[in-house]
Amino acid sequence: VRARVMQVDHSPDVTYEDIGGLADQLQEVRETVEMPLDRPEMFTEVGINPPSGVLLYGPPGTGKTMLAKAVANQTNASFIKMAGSELVHKFIGEGAKLVRDLFEVARENEPAVIFIDEIDAIASKRTDSKTSGDAEVQRTMMQLLSEMDGFDERGDIRLIAATNRFDMLDPAILRPGRFDRLIEVPKPEADGREIIFQIHTRNMNVSDDVDFSELAELATDASGADIKAVCTEAGMFAIRDDRTEVYRQDFVDAWEKIQVDADEDVGSSL
Ligand code: ATP
Repeated sequence: VRARVMQVDHSPDVTYEDIGGLADQLQEVRETVEMPLDRPEMFTEVGINPPSGVLLYGPPGTGKTMLAKAVANQTNASFIKMAGSELVHKFIGEGAKLVRDLFEVARENEPAVIFIDEIDAIASKRTDSKTSGDAEVQRTMMQLLSEMDGFDERGDIRLIAATNRFDMLDPAILRPGRFDRLIEVPKPEADGREIIFQIHTRNMNVSDDVDFSELAELATDASGADIKAVCTEAGMFAIRDDRTEVYRQDFVDAWEKIQVDADEDVGSSL
């Protein structure tokens, strides 16, 4: 089970330079995750405990996973990823056992950054706490909180969680000493989008007629993941046309195609 649901990455290759438009968020993640791993004595000397857990929240595809991976890379920590949905199980005690396993794997791989994506799957406001499924999810969350409470003895482990559904979270997990550092990771503004275009075209053969600030204005409302998709798609347009250089028009066409695809997705899920 462990191998299937837990991803251990000993050296994630994402760096801070790969992340566009999230300077404030990066700064905060560094303070709360990198500092305690790199300079634990600072916290001891000042006499405060570093935050137990950091919660990143915001729309899909905005760089939350990247932030967590980059800080693990920077601190030479292993990166251990699990989705909250993987912690939801039918059998009593199974979710809690997975949480214990997760921290055990982290201890075996110290220093480590544990990243739990979709934390809302186990930390939502309860709708009907009488159903047994809910009680089991509740137990899983309690196990996670108790592992977090024991952080002091755990050495070099930091916990980062992420959610697209901040509004759904049970306030209990946001109490002091738990996920008490909340970092919003929004969609990028125009200048952020421009940088993200530059990042994702670093290895592309881009024609001189491409103006990234123009593309950033065009791609209103795009997430980082959308921009990455536009760049790949623009490259595909060039290849279909038997060219090795990517033109402005390829990016414009790619943006249109991505929007049409997104609309169709929404349509099909209605
Ligand atoms: P989800 O909530 O769906 O898990 P996420 O916020 O964790 O999404 P990531 O997995 O970090 O998003 O981003 C997906 C991909 O989109 C990244 O691998 C990267 O290529 C691109 N991307 C997203 N945000 C950025 C950004 N700020 N800068 C550069 N690339 C980005």
